[in-house]
Amino acid sequence: MAKKYNFYAGPAILPQEVMKKAQAELLDLNGIGLSILEISHRSKDFEAIINAAEAKIRSLLGVPENYTVMFLQGGASLQFGMVPMNLLKGGKADYVHTGEWAKKAIKEAKLFGTVNVAASAEDKGFNYIPGQFHFSADARYVHVTSNETIGGVQWTKFPDTGSVPLVIDMSSDIFSRRIDFKNIGMIYAGAQKNIGPAGVTLVIMRNDLVESCADGLTTMLSYKTHAKEKSLYNTPPCFAIYIIKLVMDWIEAQGGLAAVEKVNEQKAKAIYDAIDGSNGYYRGTAEAKDRSKMNVTFRLPSEELEEKFVNEAKKAGFIGLKGHRSVGGCRASIYNAMDLAGVKALVEFMGKFATENK
Ligand SMILES: *Cc1c(COP(=O)(O)O)cnc(C)c1O
Repeated sequence: MAKKYNFYAGPAILPQEVMKKAQAELLDLNGIGLSILEISHRSKDFEAIINAAEAKIRSLLGVPENYTVMFLQGGASLQFGMVPMNLLKGGKADYVHTGEWAKKAIKEAKLFGTVNVAASAEDKGFNYIPGQFHFSADARYVHVTSNETIGGVQWTKFPDTGSVPLVIDMSSDIFSRRIDFKNIGMIYAGAQKNIGPAGVTLVIMRNDLVESCADGLTTMLSYKTHAKEKSLYNTPPCFAIYIIKLVMDWIEAQGGLAAVEKVNEQKAKAIYDAIDGSNGYYRGTAEAKDRSKMNVTFRLPSEELEEKFVNEAKKAGFIGLKGHRSVGGCRASIYNAMDLAGVKALVEFMGKFATENK
């Protein structure tokens, strides 16, 4: 089988080592004679996996003691609703509107209270991260989207929100770089972009926020339930959690988040340099200062050439370069598991394509 370079936005590339390990263990987990797919979520063997996954998440990300780690379902999209359902309690929240994903979060929050859009990048088609905010004094939280997967813009530094907790949708850049938990009340992320398969959502929430959650919610939609039951109130997505554990092992083996962050910077630089050095043949869609290191969005001189680019790239083994259907153009998603060699191969292809299709 010819090597494929996977640039899909999500579900996305996973480390080969992780999939090989999962394959090798699929029929017999640690010599127990059973598969991870067929054991009880209350068994000692699964307990060891979920505990190890949590411990590694905590140590790699530097999660402070007073935060709870939860493995939920329903994707990041369910979090758009669960966050305001639990935390808003009819009050007000500030949202920074940076694109398609922030928009969906705002829509859901409006069902549960007052939303103040503290800043919006809509004026320029969401090609930048705002730098000035109109925060409300009485907001229960400030919501930001750390990386807009579709628009290709990423926060480098989160706003200082003082005593108001930040709630961050980190679906597409969690574990791509180190983070400072100061100001952070909660992080959530669908796993399928950078840390595992679809089906599990990672939630990390400060304990005082967990305790402050609304009462009287349906059991499964209350963070209190999942915090109290350590993500085992009902059957969790066992296989997806197991893969997250293997991905955490892999990140450890890379040298931890600092090392992963460094490689991600090299990858992003290589591809943006190629765009900027193409004499305008390729045009990055995001303002340079806010360019995403995970999702590189760019255009070619015409839509016809974009289509040709995507098709020829595919024939050459570069998969998933078509931009999101809502914005068009091209997008290369370069999550943790894409190595520098893969990015360099794409850069080479881009150079060749530009020369041949003037
Ligand atoms: C993919 C994505 C989502 C939606 O995730 P689902 O798990 O499909 O619900 C939300 N936010 C961001 C930033 C994303 O990249």
